[in-house]
Amino acid sequence: MSSALDLQGPEERKVSNLALFKRCLGYFKPYMSRIILATGAMLIVAACQAAAAYLVQPAMDDIFLNKDKEALLYIPLLFLLITFAKVGFRVVQNFTMQYCGLKVLEKLRDELYRKIIYLPMKFYEDTQVGMLMSRIINDVVVIRSSMPALVMLIRQILTMVSLIVVVFYRDVELAFFAVIVLPAAFYPFIYFGRRMRKLGRKGQEKLADISVLLQEIFSGIRVVKAFATEDEEGERFDKENKRLLKLSLKQTMASELSSSVMEFVGGLGIALVLWYGGLQVIEGSSTPGTFFSFVAALVMMYDPIKKLSAANNDIQKALAGAERVFGIIDSPLIQVEQDGHYPLEEPFRELDFQNVSFAYNTEDLPALDRISLRVKAGEKIALVGPSGAGKTTFVNLIPRFYDPQHGAILLNGRPLNEYVLATLRRSISIVSQDNFLFNVSIRDNITYGHNNLSEEDVIRAAKAAYAHDFIMSLPEGYDTVIGERGVKLSGGQKQRLTIARALVKNSSLLILDEATSALDSEAERIVQKALENLMKNRTSIVIAHRLSTILRSDRILVMERGRIVAQGKHQELLSSCPLYAKLYTMQFRAPGDGLTDTDDDAESAACGNGPFGSDREGPAAYRSDGAAVMEETR
Ligand code: ADP
Repeated sequence: MSSALDLQGPEERKVSNLALFKRCLGYFKPYMSRIILATGAMLIVAACQAAAAYLVQPAMDDIFLNKDKEALLYIPLLFLLITFAKVGFRVVQNFTMQYCGLKVLEKLRDELYRKIIYLPMKFYEDTQVGMLMSRIINDVVVIRSSMPALVMLIRQILTMVSLIVVVFYRDVELAFFAVIVLPAAFYPFIYFGRRMRKLGRKGQEKLADISVLLQEIFSGIRVVKAFATEDEEGERFDKENKRLLKLSLKQTMASELSSSVMEFVGGLGIALVLWYGGLQVIEGSSTPGTFFSFVAALVMMYDPIKKLSAANNDIQKALAGAERVFGIIDSPLIQVEQDGHYPLEEPFRELDFQNVSFAYNTEDLPALDRISLRVKAGEKIALVGPSGAGKTTFVNLIPRFYDPQHGAILLNGRPLNEYVLATLRRSISIVSQDNFLFNVSIRDNITYGHNNLSEEDVIRAAKAAYAHDFIMSLPEGYDTVIGERGVKLSGGQKQRLTIARALVKNSSLLILDEATSALDSEAERIVQKALENLMKNRTSIVIAHRLSTILRSDRILVMERGRIVAQGKHQELLSSCPLYAKLYTMQFRAPGDGLTDTDDDAESAACGNGPFGSDREGPAAYRSDGAAVMEETR
């Protein structure tokens, strides 16, 4: 699936395994002392394993052949002690390693989240949310196992080495026989390792696809239900799910084959040894004790060989996940929002758009085309225009959700991008159509972004937003968690909460996207009153949908195709701007009082006078050559 998250260019993909792996291990650095502890424990476990194999010889020869009673006591005791030590130290080793792995997981998730949350709006538009969630939840998990897998690898190698020592100590000649087959075991080790990595990468991609799909279905559940397409969506999910299953089965098969082939090679070694060793015992050149001790060590060696391959599989999967995670952390393709240095602390005085043009994509027509406009403190500006005219885009440039490609936007005389972004955004209140509320208490939703507000502040804001009464009627008042135990709010109530949130923010500049469509007239009336309170003593730029807003505004801007084609007061525009008059008669006088978007592609010379943007101060005065200018710019 291609998305903005397909971030690794060909160069990034070529990063060597070693570098990738080293980088994974780098995350474990802060836990070095714990890793040393785990390694120490691991050495003891390996030694215990070898000691147990070593003990088989005296057990066999002294107890069974020589019938030594003393040996009958101390050898089982010693064996018990060794087993006890082995089990104990293995717990220490495993827990410590898991602890480090989980800490690394936490850190990686945090790092990834921080990287992603600061990315610009554009990134979120181009990327599916499910994909992002998958990166943070699934991909990092496999990296966590990189260090434990490495330790496991070392532990198994150490166990093998110590067992090899026992094997050689017991019988050099036989040992040569046994280890001759070892190189044969390495080929599957490498082959299956590669395969596991490839499958690991595909598996993570599939998991991400499923997250994307689920996210899409759940967030679009209203549409799914309205169209009764649960079954069709189920099939779509099933298809993805089956693909994941197929991949997982392939992974399981590769993993199984890998250890089985290695075990088979091991079995071959044992068969050879049994035949040759048995021959030696029968001929009297070796004792059964020596032989069984030797075989015990050899048999014990197959466990590490098998685990070696499991550890290798884990490492390969970690590398596949690492490629995807570091792809985000490093990607030069995604730019963190450019921050300025100047903190915005003074109240709003003036906003100045100077010949601003903006296109969402370079190949698109500009959504905003050479907009010039000056907004003074205390002004109430209303934006109207047909759907797609650029009203939303225009207001989105002010908090720098997007940066214009041409022109400049000055706030209090300073370019927007010179301000510390957080201070800029905190100084603007935005009440948009989506009324998004978090799944936390009503109080926390109102005070969102402001931690130290008194109860009085919260209640004052709620009262001004006409929300206090309905909040008090809820089971737990301000502590009611939205969305929990059936607490559902109506559209109007949600809107009033977002107004209370904006009131608490108390910024001198307000950006408002009025939406009335979902409200009945009573709810509408209350929201309207709340908005009036919100707009009091503030500069406001409103994407207007209500007659009252338009009538009360100091200036109405009529937008069309990314340009401001007229501006002035209601009455002036009615007589001088046909587009405005048309918008007014088509929607505003219809029930619902909304001068809302229209898809009607109002004629481009609607105001007969063309772009008005360059005239910053003037009231409803139009350039007589406007239509010609507009044609020219398209
Ligand atoms: P309005 O708010 O007046 O309806 P918008 O500002 O939403 O208009 O849209 C202006 C133009 O920009 C439209 O042509 C629209 O299709 C386009 N547009 C809006 N948002 C995006 C986006 N996120 N990506 C690409 N194009 C967009």
